[in-house]
Amino acid sequence: MTASHSRDYWEKAIAALSPEGRHFIDGAFRPAISGETFVRTRPMDGTAGASLARGRSEDIDAAVAAARVAFASGVWRHKEPLDKKKIMLKWADLIRANAEELAMLETLDVGKPILASLNVDVRLCADGIQYYAEMIDKQYDEIAPTGPKARALVRKVPIGVIGAITPWNYPLIIDSWKLGPAIAAGNSVVLKPAEQSSLSAIKLAALAFEAGLPAGVFNVVTGYGEETGKPLALHMDVDMIAFTGSTEVGKLIMGYAAQSNIKRVALELGGKSPIVVFADSDLDAAASAAAWGCFYNAGETCHASTRLIVERSVQDALIAKIEAVTRSDIALAHPLDPVAQIAALIEEAHMDKVLGMVDAGIAAGGRRAFGAERVLAETGGYYVSPGVIADVSNAMPIARDEIFGPVLVSIPFDTEEEALSIANDTVYGLAGAVFTRDMDRAHRFSEGIHAGTVWINTYDMSNFATPFGGFKQSGFGRDRSVHAIDKYCDYKTIWQQFG
Ligand code: NAP
Repeated sequence: MTASHSRDYWEKAIAALSPEGRHFIDGAFRPAISGETFVRTRPMDGTAGASLARGRSEDIDAAVAAARVAFASGVWRHKEPLDKKKIMLKWADLIRANAEELAMLETLDVGKPILASLNVDVRLCADGIQYYAEMIDKQYDEIAPTGPKARALVRKVPIGVIGAITPWNYPLIIDSWKLGPAIAAGNSVVLKPAEQSSLSAIKLAALAFEAGLPAGVFNVVTGYGEETGKPLALHMDVDMIAFTGSTEVGKLIMGYAAQSNIKRVALELGGKSPIVVFADSDLDAAASAAAWGCFYNAGETCHASTRLIVERSVQDALIAKIEAVTRSDIALAHPLDPVAQIAALIEEAHMDKVLGMVDAGIAAGGRRAFGAERVLAETGGYYVSPGVIADVSNAMPIARDEIFGPVLVSIPFDTEEEALSIANDTVYGLAGAVFTRDMDRAHRFSEGIHAGTVWINTYDMSNFATPFGGFKQSGFGRDRSVHAIDKYCDYKTIWQQFG
């Protein structure tokens, strides 16, 4: 999946696409029961995009019923492990075979560069499904210690019907982080993608069905959060919600679980991750990590390195290097242009929010070092140049709230103690990093940062073997790695007494 076609190639291919915008329920495309639709606006140019089914509670009811029937019948969970594995591996293969179409759907919806969609998002989605497929026939249950007159089996059983609610920033990747372990564990899933990014989810479901996943095991209902996500999270026949999104909505999800059937909840939420740079660091490496860590995906990344906490004596030198790396390596362009490393933000209202936070940060005393301005307005799309706001205090809203755009704030410090205090002075705890050549300090500091992932002298390196998720108000429960399967299972004890 490394094709590097011209912009003209992608323009023509997109013109020939007719994306499916209906729900996928019980093995078939279905319009909303009300017949209502809504239209997605393309972030790349502000034009009208696909028409999508506008789901409501009756559509959720239909999808949950199909998921429940599939689960209760055992058509999937009781299948031979080897056969389940083959079906999920075929699904991963079909994702790869349809990579260009999936990449185009993702870029149309989200505005990210087509080559990032193809070479990162689609690739990692297929890899994620494959990773969990390969675990299916390697799961063992336990026999608990007992006396000779009893045998106690500790069985790891699927939970039942999982409601997955996902955000728009990495739709294919995050969907696969839920679908892979949930389905490999034997559950049925109803996925509610973000209203901005439903097209790839619908295609994923159709490909799963084509691969042999039985009808009802994986369903997609499209629509708005209040109209589809809320009834899914409140549903009395949904056993768990696996949610990725904002902390604000994550709190609502916990409330819905409490108000309904005490369903299990796993939450992957927001972040405001620190990247702490000491003066003894390799400043070139730190600059590159800070720039890519914050600006990749136009800053629309939950674990982006959004707070640069830098030793005061090197703040200006480091920012100059970040600017140089940004200008030379991180090309902002139309997402169908193969040179684009970053492209549009998700929608106009979000772009306005990002620019408003920058203005407020400057009004509060921050200094624009470079960038963080609207660009490419003539395209009709929603583009903001990557930039740094310097001399920020950690008390300012721009240092406390998620910007979710390509804007790095720089907060100077004078002592190690102060740096750690600033790094942890946030409601979030998703990720963080420390740059220093002093290895004692690196280890001390990495233990001190209260976050789900901490990098030393790098940023955003990971693979499927490492769990991903947050501390504090960044949520709980982990995606990725072998541990994610446990999230979608319950333990059941079967005690047999002899004689
Ligand atoms: P969001 O507004 O919280 O939405 C996430 C999902 O929840 C969407 O599908 C949304 O549907 C749905 N939703 C909204 N209101 C709902 C309600 N009342 N009941 C049930 N569902 C509801 O987040 P977003 O703007 O899509 O994504 C950005 C956020 O996600 C950021 O905070 C980011 O940090 C976080 N994130 C976290 C991780 C992680 O792994 N920790 C990864 C990626 C993103 P609609 O789109 O239709 O409103």
